Amino acid sequence: MRTRVTMLFAVFIVGWLWLDARAQSGGPTVSGAHRFEKVTDGVYYATASGTMTVGSNSPIIVTDTEAIVIDSEITPAAARALVADLKAITDKPVRYVIDSHYHYDHAHGNQVFLPDAQVIGHENTRKRMLTNVLEQYTYLTSVEPIPTRVAALKQRIVAETDPQQKALLEQQVKNSLAYLEQVKETKVTPPNVTFDRKMTLFRGGREIQILFFGRGHTDTDVVVYLPKERIVCTGDLMESVISYMGDAYVDEWPATLDRLMTLDFDTTMPGHGVVFKGKGHIEAFQRYLRDLLKQATDLKKAGVSAEAAAQRIDMRAFATDFPQIRAAGIDAAAVRRIYALADHPE
Ligand SMILES: [Zn+2]
Repeated sequence: MRTRVTMLFAVFIVGWLWLDARAQSGGPTVSGAHRFEKVTDGVYYATASGTMTVGSNSPIIVTDTEAIVIDSEITPAAARALVADLKAITDKPVRYVIDSHYHYDHAHGNQVFLPDAQVIGHENTRKRMLTNVLEQYTYLTSVEPIPTRVAALKQRIVAETDPQQKALLEQQVKNSLAYLEQVKETKVTPPNVTFDRKMTLFRGGREIQILFFGRGHTDTDVVVYLPKERIVCTGDLMESVISYMGDAYVDEWPATLDRLMTLDFDTTMPGHGVVFKGKGHIEAFQRYLRDLLKQATDLKKAGVSAEAAAQRIDMRAFATDFPQIRAAGIDAAAVRRIYALADHPE
């Protein structure tokens, strides 16, 4: 029997808390743009539900006194949606935002949290965000290809016969076009609290360490470590999928991950993908990075252009650990970056 839902309802499906956009009066107003996976008491993993472009996944730490958000997501609109959705898991205010690194899909919601919260990040995050990031390659790759992608999606919608698939594609078009509008509001807002190697928050019964282990995905990556809970939040320094490498330090990355693994933890909450257990996946990614660097370096020495090398580099040996690898070839931005650093070390 169907009853009218007059308050927020949540359905637990194997630990997933689904926030329904149709929540009516009587419960907190939520946007429905996020789902929250409970990782342990007071620690949640916010991911996109699919109704809007939110960018990164955001670990949430609830203390006795406040909520701490790791990564403010891709736009002010996504950040506001996150703040609204948080009301379904806590009534505590957000007092701290931690930028895992400077990338737009993790940090362009920062402006929504000031002045009520402190935004914490590595000093290099602040430095980078004080430059014209909205005109730089990494950000532009998020907006410039959208018109072409939307045109391709529209063609697929016409050809699609499965109504469910069609609805999914239509939602993707809607999200992409909305994103192009939502970015216009972005005022790049750097962290207002910075550190170099380590800072620790002792807040409402929790110890929260924020650590910089060196360069890897960028020169701004920090991890958030909960020693008691044996949880580490790694941003894009360690994803469950293959990270973007357009401004990475592939040669230094494996050693940085070695230092990360000196911490005692069992659970990793990454910037993209899914929460995972153990250190084996991190070791697999180290092997991936070393192999990628070797292949790219060899091709460069043989005089192969970055674009051609990107087609030829074959990472299929790592498909067991990273199932999204289905064919030879990798993102050309990664190879261009490896080539550029070989010619002009930073
Ligand atoms: Zn990133």
